[in-house]
Amino acid sequence: MALGVGDDCALIASEAGAQWAVSTDTLVEHVHFLSDVDPAALGHKALAVSLSDLAACGATPRCFFLALALPSADPAWLERFSDGMYALADLHCCALAGGDTSRSSAGIVITITALGYVPTGDALLRSGARVGDDIWVSGELGDAALGLAFRRGDVDLPQAAAQRVVTKLELPVPRVLLGVRLRELASSAIDLSDGLVGDLRHVMRASGVGAVVNWAQIPRSAVLQQQPIPTQQRLALAGGDDYELLFTAASERRAQVIAVAAGLVPVTRIGIVTSTTGLEVVDEDGAAVDTGMIAFEHF
Ligand SMILES: [Mg+2]
Repeated sequence: MALGVGDDCALIASEAGAQWAVSTDTLVEHVHFLSDVDPAALGHKALAVSLSDLAACGATPRCFFLALALPSADPAWLERFSDGMYALADLHCCALAGGDTSRSSAGIVITITALGYVPTGDALLRSGARVGDDIWVSGELGDAALGLAFRRGDVDLPQAAAQRVVTKLELPVPRVLLGVRLRELASSAIDLSDGLVGDLRHVMRASGVGAVVNWAQIPRSAVLQQQPIPTQQRLALAGGDDYELLFTAASERRAQVIAVAAGLVPVTRIGIVTSTTGLEVVDEDGAAVDTGMIAFEHF
């Protein structure tokens, strides 16, 4: 970076042959996170959700801007928040390039704008899915939503299981390197922030295609698989906050997709892009899984 924090503007050298990918996200207390969350986890997650958007575009993170509104200035809280945020930023060599803090009369409000770069024309978009492409996801789906259900007291879990899913909720891992490696392979991509069904529909709409997803192939953790099937379906299909990548790729690319993901995160083929315009989720017997009653709960 030519000039970072400390002047009126940051100055960022433009990369030859590259485009900036820019994403901004706001997290609001009581809406996107619980008040008793560990500030270090909050700092991590606030940046992680923006890096996840960069990952969905196949962009390499470069720097970010932070606007923070707090009801009161608590130095200990701020230090932990910063520790969590910088640990993730350092991991991705993503520098804080500017910021602003102000007093909030309501809860905590965190806005992060992240910039990444991508070779011109190579960004992964939602609009590139083609009929016949495989539909893939990284990681396991539904754990973050199960973690939220646990934190709200809606579900009881053994301690180790609870810790696993709460970690998934509070410390999501943005799939940055996977996104970069998929640039040459995937036809479209999106990150899963609002749940599989909703986010896949964004891809379908942008690409003008339909999709069939096989319920049995959706990767679920051992913890989630202990839940009743309707709960598993609600959480894995419509639970938010997974921050895994959903992407499509031509079927000839299967071996390459698995090869580039190796050592990063498991990737699983969950369905296929179709020429019809709807989304069908089918179970092992080919019967339709009802996705109509599945609504995303925000947190
Ligand atoms: Mg996104």
